[in-house]
Amino acid sequence: MARGTQEVAPLEMTKWFDTNYHYLVPELGPGTVFTADSGKQVAELKEALAQSLTARPVLVGPVTYLLLAKPAPGVPAGFEPLTLLDRLLPVYAEVLADLRAAGAEWVQLDEPALVQDRTPAELHAAERAYRGLGALTDRPKLLIASYFDRLGDALPVLAKAPVEGLALDFTEAAAANLDALAAVGGLPGKRLVAGVVNGRNVWINDLRKSLSTLGTLLGLADRVDVAASCSLLHVPLDTDTERDIDPQILRWLAFAKQKTTEIVTLARGLAQGTGTISGELAANRADLASRAGSPITRDRAVRARAEAVTDADVRRSQPYAERSAAQQAHLRLPLLPTTTIGSFPQTGELRAARADLRAGRLDTVGYEERVKAEIQEVISFQEKTGLDVLVHGEPERNDMVQYFAERLTGYLATQHGWVQSYGTRCVRPPILAGDVSRPEPMTVRWTSYAQSLSDRPVKGMLTGPVTMLAWSFVRDDQPLGDTARQVALALRDEVNDLEAAGTSVIQVDEPALRETLPLRAADRPGYLAWATDAFRLTTAGVRPDTQIHTHMCYAEFGDIVQAIDDLDADVISLEAARSHMQVARELAAHGYPREAGPGVYDIHSPRVPSADEAADLLRTGLEAIPAERLWVNPDCGLKTRAWPETRASLENLVAAARTVRSEL
Ligand code: GLN
Ligand code: ZN
Repeated sequence: MARGTQEVAPLEMTKWFDTNYHYLVPELGPGTVFTADSGKQVAELKEALAQSLTARPVLVGPVTYLLLAKPAPGVPAGFEPLTLLDRLLPVYAEVLADLRAAGAEWVQLDEPALVQDRTPAELHAAERAYRGLGALTDRPKLLIASYFDRLGDALPVLAKAPVEGLALDFTEAAAANLDALAAVGGLPGKRLVAGVVNGRNVWINDLRKSLSTLGTLLGLADRVDVAASCSLLHVPLDTDTERDIDPQILRWLAFAKQKTTEIVTLARGLAQGTGTISGELAANRADLASRAGSPITRDRAVRARAEAVTDADVRRSQPYAERSAAQQAHLRLPLLPTTTIGSFPQTGELRAARADLRAGRLDTVGYEERVKAEIQEVISFQEKTGLDVLVHGEPERNDMVQYFAERLTGYLATQHGWVQSYGTRCVRPPILAGDVSRPEPMTVRWTSYAQSLSDRPVKGMLTGPVTMLAWSFVRDDQPLGDTARQVALALRDEVNDLEAAGTSVIQVDEPALRETLPLRAADRPGYLAWATDAFRLTTAGVRPDTQIHTHMCYAEFGDIVQAIDDLDADVISLEAARSHMQVARELAAHGYPREAGPGVYDIHSPRVPSADEAADLLRTGLEAIPAERLWVNPDCGLKTRAWPETRASLENLVAAARTVRSEL
């Protein structure tokens, strides 16, 4: 299912709610038959019990499982996986009975899909599911877990369900759960698992605040357990292994082990009185005060600048239509201009050179020679192939977020802060710990060097403010929009410096704009307002004839076309090859008025598209976007590809553009 075979495509993998963790999307149809296989769960439970651990097996709940599934290929349109609920419940019943027999007192069923907006029919399905499972006689006690947000309309449904416990998120983002729980009269007769320790951030808990929340909750349920708000797989393991972070700052951080200690401390304070944890409380108060009062957390200059931002700062000096004419005159590009998304193959030699630099086997001069040689090769290949807007290839970057995080004040890097992304893949997100500023230019010399090698425009390449937040651990002590504004101001300096150094085209990547969309529709306008503002603050300081590009990688974004338009970028490139230009049609359907480059080369596969195939995609694109506004580019950056297929594919892409141009 994860990898596919020669005959069967793998399942789609997508992000788990608004986290950077992934799951495989189940594919179901009217004919799907479920069977129970509890072997793995039972074996793991027994392993725990053999070590005298009281383990609570955790399964994805039936409602979330079905709501996250999609119709299998070939299934008639309109099929809703949720209609399979009655067929699925008996299988859950069997698994629950097996776990009971193996010694599980409790089993947890995760239902995070219920923190999203749900229709009455979906809520009714949840009600039916738990009435059914609750009525089983041969079963363990059931705990229904919710996390990542407030339960909203699903709270009264689950509160009434005939199960023994409910887990709720009580972190700031889900604070509404507290009042909502009081409004339904609490959970008489039930166990409440109170997620007061944030399972997704890296910050120490405010123990006194949590104790006060827990105190309120004690009056609302028969039994209150202290817990993390969600699984701790979203945070790194242990701050103790970090050697490069200032010990003072390290005290502000809590990874999984530290969070577990916080949970135990809070539980002790709750059960035995706060007198028993007075030492912990005092230390916690001191650490919180140290963080709040630190010049890292509050940089006066950064704050003054952020406060002084005016409406004019987030608007370009001319409207798109006028700018577009100025850019045309300045850049003199052909119709259907060709370009790439930024990175070129990150070869083994490049990675080895970076490792050598870190290990001291290569000095900075030697490393930079390597980077320059790579840029030369990338530029000369693009010139020879006939691309119109060139890139320097991003050889100096380990990662599109980490590279910038390492150069911005306010960001911390960890040595061992790995979190699982999917399977055996892990990422090590940087930590946005303090106020953000840019001590010096980050990319200008590489872009300028590349430009010095060619008469064609070389595109500057930056990661946008929303993505810089989305793929990092963010602060919990100020609104996300405030952090985004600081990052945007730092990037704005970079954009302006690039322009001053002679860069006429600047791309600001925002692949995370869509995935950071809040889970609840009511929260989206607020998010989109600060997110688009941050992008415009980053890019609006340039001259009208400087062309701003942006790039996003996902395929489904019909619901944010307005927000994309609000970015006020001149050109957007998007992933489209696999969906046969679907995004071009979506853009057109929403009347998107700007230039766009729906990808004609699927870079997620080593396959080389033929020139005919790329030309066909272009012709399809032209049905939606007029030639004056259509760009020709691959889906995404080429860093994961090897040179042979990159060369062949880009040659075909340029040939396709020439063919289709000649047909205009
Ligand atoms: N400019 C980046 C690159 O080419 C964009 C990466 C992305 O599409 N996520 O690698
Ligand atoms: Zn991309």
